[in-house]
Amino acid sequence: MKTLSNFNFENKKALIRVDFNVPLNEELEVTDATRIIAAKPTIIHILEQGGSCILMSHLGRPKKPGNKFSLKHIVQTISDILGVQVKFSADCCDETAQEMASNLQPGEILLLENLRYHKEEMAGDKDFAEKLAALGDIYVNDAFGTAHRAHASTAIIAQFFPDNKCFGLLLAKEIESVNKVLRDGESPITAILGGAKVSSKITIIENILDKIDNLIIGGGMIFTFIKAQGGKIGNSLVEDDKLKLALQILAEAKKKNVQVLIPTDVIIADGFAEDASTQICPTDQIPDEWAGLDIGPETQAAVKQMVLASKTILWNGPLGVFEMEPFAGGTIALGEAVVQATKEGCFSLVGGGDSVAAVKMFGFADKVSYVSTGGGAMLEMLEGKTLPGVAAILN
Ligand code: AMP
Repeated sequence: MKTLSNFNFENKKALIRVDFNVPLNEELEVTDATRIIAAKPTIIHILEQGGSCILMSHLGRPKKPGNKFSLKHIVQTISDILGVQVKFSADCCDETAQEMASNLQPGEILLLENLRYHKEEMAGDKDFAEKLAALGDIYVNDAFGTAHRAHASTAIIAQFFPDNKCFGLLLAKEIESVNKVLRDGESPITAILGGAKVSSKITIIENILDKIDNLIIGGGMIFTFIKAQGGKIGNSLVEDDKLKLALQILAEAKKKNVQVLIPTDVIIADGFAEDASTQICPTDQIPDEWAGLDIGPETQAAVKQMVLASKTILWNGPLGVFEMEPFAGGTIALGEAVVQATKEGCFSLVGGGDSVAAVKMFGFADKVSYVSTGGGAMLEMLEGKTLPGVAAILN
């Protein structure tokens, strides 16, 4: 796997695909700079070696060029974070961009305008990729968030750098973290899958069953499994067309000796609201009109025990409706257990949409081994797919 350490960037122009698709408010100010901060180590590494950086990214999904999606709004935030005043080219590959790139000196940074102002970017157009490629000497992909897309700047461009391409530090770390769980994970390996629906996690379950020892099922998914086994789930979330599949998953897990923990008790509510009445109830005896919105105390204890006995943990999806305080307890208890296990030497990876939001919300993010930055890309890696942006560097 080629990374920054395979190259000397002195007097070289690094053309870096970053993911600066950051949220902006009404005043077009950056409201969360996490993605910029995540790319900082790669950029600083190159500058410190005496190279220069040409940064390219998309922002949003613009239909045509316009003020709202311009990357010029984030120039100052990037400059403040990196401690270097960043130059800006108002197009990503016109003559001005070429001139600015060609005049760039060691230690300098140039940010190119939103790649998606050219429809060729998302179309994966080869000529457009070649124009971008002409701007730099070494191609660095550090955009994990878009590595699952075969766009011009994320995948197609790599062919113009047959020997001079590598992963940035962020992307390399993401790949290593997944490998640390699914390829080289130390047993017992426990996967915790929560979130709303079984349907969005099926491919992950199918891919990981061969590699894990324990599977904890949480979130809205629980009830499809319980109903499939003949339990009463009241008004809980269920996917009736996935009942057979739920039983198949359980049979497959048994065949593969994977211990599956399905919650035995849940917090039920008489409405999907913070002020609904609540009760603790066995998962398979939920009264009509009531819905299970979090795991119960008995299950919390079982989850904790399983997590603390693990050497490797993969956590994807919250165990309950963590956005509402009365139903956040299960996700918090799990987070605490994962933090403790990590302290005791376990490798813990948190990846995929809402579990990342949950660990940030409850302050666990810097106490687990790794929190993934790319939602869709991480899910595809867990599903066992090779990401186009990763394959383009490996080939
Ligand atoms: P996902 O994007 O699939 O990870 O789903 C995350 C969402 O699942 C969060 O917004 C949670 O509120 C929701 N969720 C978790 N547990 C439940 C549950 N028991 N019933 C309904 N929604 C749930």
